[in-house]
Amino acid sequence: MTAAVERADFDRYMVPVFSPLDMIFVRGEGSRLWDQQGRDYIDFGAGVAVTSLGHSHPILLKALSEQAGKLWHVSNYYTNEPALKLARKLCELTFAERVFYCNSGAEANEAALKLARKRAVDKYGPEKIEIVSFNGSFHGRTFFTVSVGGQAKYSSGMGPNPAGIVHIDLHDEAALRRVVGPQTCAIIVEPVVGESGVLPVKPEFLKLMRELATKHDAALIFDEVQSGNGRTGALYAYMNTGVVPDILTTAKGIGGGFPVGIMMTTAAMADKHFTPGVHGSTFGGNPLACAVSLAVLDLISSPEVLEGVKRKAKHAAQRLRAMGEQFGCFAEVRESGLWLGCELTPTFAGRAGEFMKAAAANGLLHIVAGPNVVRIATSLVISDAELDEGLDRMEKTCRQLSA
Ligand SMILES: *Cc1c(COP(=O)(O)O)cnc(C)c1O
Repeated sequence: MTAAVERADFDRYMVPVFSPLDMIFVRGEGSRLWDQQGRDYIDFGAGVAVTSLGHSHPILLKALSEQAGKLWHVSNYYTNEPALKLARKLCELTFAERVFYCNSGAEANEAALKLARKRAVDKYGPEKIEIVSFNGSFHGRTFFTVSVGGQAKYSSGMGPNPAGIVHIDLHDEAALRRVVGPQTCAIIVEPVVGESGVLPVKPEFLKLMRELATKHDAALIFDEVQSGNGRTGALYAYMNTGVVPDILTTAKGIGGGFPVGIMMTTAAMADKHFTPGVHGSTFGGNPLACAVSLAVLDLISSPEVLEGVKRKAKHAAQRLRAMGEQFGCFAEVRESGLWLGCELTPTFAGRAGEFMKAAAANGLLHIVAGPNVVRIATSLVISDAELDEGLDRMEKTCRQLSA
């Protein structure tokens, strides 16, 4: 038998780009996790908005184990049934007419940015390569996506960044009008900005992006890696904005915990520009990933699940606002479905990490969005009882920290 492992082994053997908390989880069911010592935790983080249907969902277990007994991998020299079924369903449910598969959000954005550049250069020549992005945005950790993302701390200190990228502030209409021009090939935005605090972008600002992108024949890219897949109560967040992108990227919740990335787009964007050999992925369209994602999509696109998200989100926001007032900890609770950003008051400024540790000690796992925002992303099918139990543990945490 292999010897037992413990948290100290992380520091012994792992590259230290993360500093995980002390517990090690060994099992999960619904919105509950158990660690090596058998302690239970309510999961308000969903592995950063990934386990959209909780842990060990029977339908996902069935989809995965059935596919595992049939076929795991064939490569993109061939196609396969789960990949085609998932692509068809995504095209039926969204604006998309073409789908590209990869394995993560960063790769989906990498594909989107390459497609936008390739199409613009094909159509207009080598000058049309400029990408407009927003300060504070996050698009993944490949070198292109950290360069496009609006957080210098992730892209600096590694030599020259790719050129042709401009960053402006969100909601700065004058700046948007100034920087978008004939040289622009893409505007990329998260319709709800996740890592910077669960901040919904104003629909009027998205409309202006749409207008300017259309005027200059640039691609409007919505990064829905985190906002998509039912998280906000809409299947994709764009559906609530009245604005339709040319390219939509997603990952995280669509796999329910199985790694998958997807870029969706139109025939006009893709067909003449992403031709055989231009882009690719060894694992993209993997039958296991697609079979699981198809099962996830079936569930999260159902009116019952989406209505449940909205109903439970209202309840959670209400209770969190009450706690915020009672304990003076939250200045604002932003609700985008079962995705909540609790902005800390000046008294608690910079202490989101402390909340996270204290909550974990109370058996509640939430995440953060920067030092000032407690971020909550539950399973979309969390039971009312588990939701309230988690909120009780949050309340206990607020009480302790405000004492
Ligand atoms: C998480 C995230 C990504 C990166 O996804 P990975 O799967 O970690 O590569 C990109 N964009 C947004 C908006 C995200 O939240």
